[in-house]
Amino acid sequence: MRRRAFLGAVGSVASLSTLAYATRGSAETLAVRIWFSEAAATYDGVADRIREYLEETLALGYWTLDLSVGGTVSVSTEDAARLTSRGEWPMAVAAGELGRRELEPVSDVNLLVTDGGMEEAPTGYGIPHVASVGGARHIASLDAFDEVVSGTRWVVPNTPPARTIQVLVHEIGHALGLDHGHGVAFHHGGAVIATPMLSSYAWDPAYGADSSRCGTTLPTSKDRDRKLSLAFSSCARRALAAYDGGLL
Ligand SMILES: [Zn+2]
Repeated sequence: MRRRAFLGAVGSVASLSTLAYATRGSAETLAVRIWFSEAAATYDGVADRIREYLEETLALGYWTLDLSVGGTVSVSTEDAARLTSRGEWPMAVAAGELGRRELEPVSDVNLLVTDGGMEEAPTGYGIPHVASVGGARHIASLDAFDEVVSGTRWVVPNTPPARTIQVLVHEIGHALGLDHGHGVAFHHGGAVIATPMLSSYAWDPAYGADSSRCGTTLPTSKDRDRKLSLAFSSCARRALAAYDGGLL
């Protein structure tokens, strides 16, 4: 009765975020569905670009990725973090599941992409199974995966397009149960490089570095170039391997 568990959460974003994951067998499908705000939907190629990147970053061998586009959603703001943290997007997902609006959620990740700004944090937000991120205009100008990513650790420059796709992967990580402690940073080629779950917290002096779940310490970013990696850390991948919960 996994469906009933979800319906029981309607009315409370807090309870939605604390839902216990239902039992999930191994080697199943990971269902990810993406919606766009009306402003985000005005850019060409965004869905295809997201698909290209997620087919790489979520190809982890624990599941078969089933990525789909849900359509366009009318929202009250392009502020992606606010849409999830204040409940508007989680409630829309819940209403869709109840058949009260034309929106069909999937079991694992229901991601809303807006054209919200990517300069001031928070630029996205994720709770179990529900996430949102801004920056559609930046994804529209993102080059192909093979042109942007370098090396086995999938290092990308800290530019608005690459940062936006990393934050998108970050919020999907939250939707799958990961937190910032599943991210790491490391020195490589003279730069400090942050994996998706840590992201720019790697060089934020206010970040509590002792929250690492990976047993690593934050390397200094002083006098170093700051770059990003699109590859989940090994401890994030271990946590994803243990992900066992569909929502519906
Ligand atoms: Zn986060």
